Amino acid sequence: CVELAEKLKEISKDIEIIPAHAWTPWFSIFGSKSGFDSVEECFQDKANEIFALETGLSSDPAMNWRVSKLDRFTLLSNSDSHSYWPWRMGRECNILDIELNYKNLINAIRTGKGFEGTVEVDPNYGKYHLDGHRACDVCFEPAETKKHKNICPKCGNNLTIGVLNRVEELADRPEGFKPKGKPDFYKLIPLAEIMAGYLGVSQPSSKKVFELYDSLIGKFGNELNIMLEVPAEKLEQAMDKKLAGLIIKNREGRIEVTPGYDGVYGVALIEPGVENTRKKKQKSLAEF
Ligand SMILES: [Zn+2]
Ligand SMILES: [Zn+2]
Repeated sequence: CVELAEKLKEISKDIEIIPAHAWTPWFSIFGSKSGFDSVEECFQDKANEIFALETGLSSDPAMNWRVSKLDRFTLLSNSDSHSYWPWRMGRECNILDIELNYKNLINAIRTGKGFEGTVEVDPNYGKYHLDGHRACDVCFEPAETKKHKNICPKCGNNLTIGVLNRVEELADRPEGFKPKGKPDFYKLIPLAEIMAGYLGVSQPSSKKVFELYDSLIGKFGNELNIMLEVPAEKLEQAMDKKLAGLIIKNREGRIEVTPGYDGVYGVALIEPGVENTRKKKQKSLAEF
């Protein structure tokens, strides 16, 4: 990491290095498999060139606020879309109040000026929120993992230690602590997921979902507008009351999510009984 930072900064001081999905187990700065407990440990004398962290789906700013040594970093949220599915794009994003150009963008990231916060998914929705072993359908809260000494009780292999566990390991503040001056964030489940639940189909990749989605985008312009701005009465005029109700429920952060673990996405509980992706043994294409 030190060498990478050195080389990039040699090319241009305007290159920004932002550790992505900072907490996930496999390829990230604080992940259980990578072994760093601080930015300084990872980047050493280049740590002062790091100004921001990308929190990943499985953690939100509130979780990061529990670790005081992260206070100096701007907490970004990107889509981390590893596939072409449209509902993966923009599922997390950054809110900027700047004139859009590269210089201003970098300045907002480095200083927090003009950086107004983020849109997040529920951290439970992320693939590595809790600990577990996917092949055995074992999913544990950090305390249970500890009881089992990080071992899967079904097969005896190591459990994949998730994001919440790592945050708790490094946290020096209680849950709910908010450092001064940190921007707020929105918590939203992607609209296509809400629609899949509403229509009773197992995946947002269904044609029915695309049709409904496109018709609403045609009316309201973009997803964030529908999710955050359009008043309830307007939503009710444009669609079924039940769907409008779900959009409002999502806006208020009241949609529960069964936590993800060991590469399995969390499942939004939009309609009871639609929690089906969890049961499938084989990965379907839409899981990436
Ligand atoms: Zn990624
Ligand atoms: Zn197992």
